[in-house]
Amino acid sequence: MKKLLALILALCMVFALCACGKAAPAAPTTLTMGTGGESGTYYAVGSVLGNYISPKIGVTINVVASGGSAKNLTGMCVDKIYDLATVQSDVMTFAFNGTNSFAETGKLDSFRVLCGLYAETVQIVSVDPSIKSVADLKGKTVCVGDVGSGTAFSAVDILGIYGMTIDDITPVYQSFGASTESLRDGKIDAAFTTAGAPTPSIVDLATTNTVNLISIDDDHLAKLLDACPWYAAYTIPAGTYKGQDADAVTVTVKATLICRADLDDDVAYKIVSTIFNNTGDLAAQNAKCAEFSLEFATEGIAVPFAAGAAKFFSENGITVATAP
Ligand code: GLU
Repeated sequence: MKKLLALILALCMVFALCACGKAAPAAPTTLTMGTGGESGTYYAVGSVLGNYISPKIGVTINVVASGGSAKNLTGMCVDKIYDLATVQSDVMTFAFNGTNSFAETGKLDSFRVLCGLYAETVQIVSVDPSIKSVADLKGKTVCVGDVGSGTAFSAVDILGIYGMTIDDITPVYQSFGASTESLRDGKIDAAFTTAGAPTPSIVDLATTNTVNLISIDDDHLAKLLDACPWYAAYTIPAGTYKGQDADAVTVTVKATLICRADLDDDVAYKIVSTIFNNTGDLAAQNAKCAEFSLEFATEGIAVPFAAGAAKFFSENGITVATAP
């Protein structure tokens, strides 16, 4: 009888060990989130999200500054330094499909969407009132965002609609903060800034200078929306920045929160549910969070969602695509 018990015990231990061996990897305790430059909206909103979500889900989200969308995608899919990131919806779609500038590097598809966050506005900023149209940028020194930014993609699209390439300007690659200093010092004539408005760097510029936001005219806007359907028309209302007395017409893309494809499903679920179950608290900390909605989070997104995010949206009556 004793021998039988010992045998049963031994078998139980073997089964227990096998089960341990096959157990799912432990959920992460720390996640790193790539955002954008410190004077941008990604960093500001990302910091609010990280600080708010971390204690609620028991996972520390470290929010770090970065060059922006393309840098975040390579940081996540190639260098494996980011678990979470904010990216432009257009740039992530190019990366996922290996199109546009990702045609050379090859597709980066080891990431999934958690949710769309808010509209990012393509803002063409100058302090020179003689620059009245995008056409006036020809021959000028223009910041097109940081190296690896999504802003650089917007700049190429908009110059292209006006029959220009990057070679028709003298391009400068700088963070939003650095480009604000360059505008102030007269080192550059204009700067593209694709970011949620009001953007901290432009708010800062407006404290010392009259900000001239350059509009895209109706004719070119129609052509842009036709050629690049990932944009939506948008008017930056007068008064968004100190001293801005006229509306500016431009386009938006969608700031999107993504995660690496193998992020634990339960953690993905908790991140998304914490955001959308607490939009009031988040909006109190950053005005961009007041734009968060289940519809905006899920509409027009061309990259598969993380299964944990899809579970949350499905519980709220919205079906989103996941990877097969
Ligand atoms: N959308 C920008 C980019 O990827 C960054 C925006 C921001 O930092 O708020 O270049």
